[in-house]
Formats: sequence, C-alpha cells, structure tokens
Amino acid sequence: MPRIELHNVSKKWGSFVAVNKLDMVIEDREFITLLGPSGCGKTTTLRMIAGLETPTEGKIVIGDTVVFDSERGINISPAKRDIGFLFQNYALWPHMTVYKNIAFGLENLKWSKDKIDERVTEVLKTLKIEEFSGRYPAELSGGQQQRVAIARTLAPKPQVLFMDEPLSNLDAKLRSEMRTELKRLHSDTNSTFVYVTHDQLEAMTLATRICLIEKGDLQQYDPPLTVYNNPANLFVADFIGNPTMNFIPATAKQTEKNKLCVDFFGINAEFTGEKELQLENESITLGIRPEFLPISDKGLIEGLAYSTLPSGMETIVKINLRGNILSSVVFGAIDYKVDQKIHFDIAGNNIIVFDNTSKKNIGLGSLKIT
Ligand code: ATP
Repeated sequence: MPRIELHNVSKKWGSFVAVNKLDMVIEDREFITLLGPSGCGKTTTLRMIAGLETPTEGKIVIGDTVVFDSERGINISPAKRDIGFLFQNYALWPHMTVYKNIAFGLENLKWSKDKIDERVTEVLKTLKIEEFSGRYPAELSGGQQQRVAIARTLAPKPQVLFMDEPLSNLDAKLRSEMRTELKRLHSDTNSTFVYVTHDQLEAMTLATRICLIEKGDLQQYDPPLTVYNNPANLFVADFIGNPTMNFIPATAKQTEKNKLCVDFFGINAEFTGEKELQLENESITLGIRPEFLPISDKGLIEGLAYSTLPSGMETIVKINLRGNILSSVVFGAIDYKVDQKIHFDIAGNNIIVFDNTSKKNIGLGSLKIT
C-alpha cells in the first residue's frame, strides 16, 4: 500500500480559490479524515487525489508514481491510479443480486470466474453479508445496502479507498454502527483510507489523523486527540468538541518565560505554560474545555446555574459567571435550580492561551486562581 504526497496543490475556478497550496503526506495504512465546514474544499481535495478534478497547480504522488505534476504536464487518469471510491450516493444496481453487484466490477477487470468467486465470498464474509448474497438491493435495509457498497468497493483490492460522506444517508444509530465497522475494516484490510466528512465526531472517532480545512486553507493536520487537546488556532478549537470550548476574553502580562499573570471577568490567575511562551499582545483568549470546569462545593469560583441539560450519562451545566455563560460537563445526572449558587474550579493542564490578533494557540498549560 502506498503513501500519498500532495505538494503545493491548489484548485482555482476563475479568481475563486477552492484549495490553497495544500501540502500534506498521507502515510501508508493511515485513516485520514478531511474535515471542515461546508464548501471548505474537502471534496475538491479528494477528487484531485483521485484524478477526478485537475488541480490548477501542484504535484501529487501515489506510492512511487507521480500521478499529477502541473510543471511537467503529468496527469494520470483515475482508472490508472488504483483506487476505490465510496460516495454518499452509493447506488447499487437494482436488477442485480448482492453477489452480482460485487462481482460485476471484477468481470469488467477480466478476472477469471474462480478468482471472482473466491474474492466475492471473501468480501461478503468481511462485511458480514454472506446471507444476503442472493438478495436484490430493494430487499435490504439501508445499513445492509451500505455494506454491499463497501464490499463492492473493496473487491478489486484498491490500494487506497476514498470515501465521501458515505454514512450521511443513514440514521444516527446505524451511522454509529457503521463507524465501528469502518474502523474494524480499516485494520482488517490494511488499506489507506481517505474519508471526507463535515461531522467532527465522525472525524474524531475514525481517523488516525484529521486534516482540518477552512476556506481552502489547511488549519491543522494531526491525530484527533492532538487536535482536540492542543488546537492550532481559535477556528480549530471552536470546530472540534461538543459542547464547544469555552472562550474567555482576558488580559495577560508575562511574568516569567513560561508564566503569565492573567485577568478575566475581574478574576486574577496565574497561567503556567508547559513550554516557554511568546506573548505578543496583552489581549488574549483563554480556551477551556467544559470538562476542565469541574463543579464541587469546594470550588474556588462562584457562579450561578444558568441552565442544566441532563442527557442521562452526563449533564451539561451552563454557568453564569458575572454575566458570562460558561459550559461545564458533569458525569451522571444532576439538576440545579435556575440561579442556584454553584462553585467550580479550572482544572488540568489543557488550558490554552490564544493570541487575539493572530488567533493562534501560543501556549498550553494550567491556570491557578490567585
Ligand atoms: P461540502 O461539505 O458542502 O460537500 P466541501 O468542503 O466538500 O463542501 P467542495 O465541494 O470541495 O467543498 O467545494 C469547495 C468550493 O469550491 C465551494 O465553495 C464550491 O462552491 C466551489 N466549487 C466546487 N466545484 C466547483 C465548480 N465546478 N466550479 C466553481 N466552483 C466550484
């Protein structure tokens, strides 16, 4: 299985830049999700790697083969790039049985009858759909049809599997089941998966690395937990995580190489970074995930319960802190009365300082109320 390299790849339509100078390497056997809001350039990126869209400039390498190079005039057709596709509308052929749907592509590739039978049996087993082999698509549920579509895509053993929002037609429960299956499939097949989604939870749970794009620009390309715990900038921090991160406007003064004296909502605190900090402006934003605002009777900060949203396993508590609403997440079910006094702390080593001018993450560390 190959690695995929994108060097300075751009796509423009007239003066509109859909993808801007994208540089990234997808390692062999990775599961990459291309993530970002609608219209950010995810599908265009996928289609350029696959050869369905011609980049305006740049170079794309799959394995040892340069499949596109604007300078050298190279542009290898999709059929010769040895890739498989799974799209949102995975139309199965309605007049063919499940077996035939999977076998059809292999017949076109002129595989022998025995080899086709062996491979179809194998993928039916991998996707746990052996029992449906003789059925027609209309006799299957949405999730079963989706499995057939995946089996059909996997059958010719593509080096790389591209998927564009393949689960978006399914209901929430089925989507969650298929996520589990896709992750399992990734480890079973040893293929490289490139997966487009606008769903941050899907990206977080599936990917080995998330490529987060906004308006054609790469914002961060890291493993999911790095993107979650150490987002590169305010956009990434806001896009990933539900409930969203708390963003608290603050002023800061540098006291030591890795220490800041911070003031927010009239509260003084000391921020200790895990590394040296470069504070360029006094005006900063503190980024605090809801799970780092634990509520307890001993909490040092006092606020009022603005609203409480229990969902069974956890409860989201909206806290009114001097007229500003913060989110906290508590494990289990709690129900505070509206405007009841509650106490909480700012815990852990995952508090982030963002510069308000550049919007960039300038330090990760802990915050102590002084
Ligand atoms: P979504 O999640 O909505 O599918 P996306 O991130 O996949 O969005 P793309 O389909 O890659 O977005 O499109 C990126 C941008 O390029 C969009 O603003 C879109 O309108 C524009 N675009 C796509 N195809 C064309 C085209 N053929 N001509 C002009 N503009 C296009």
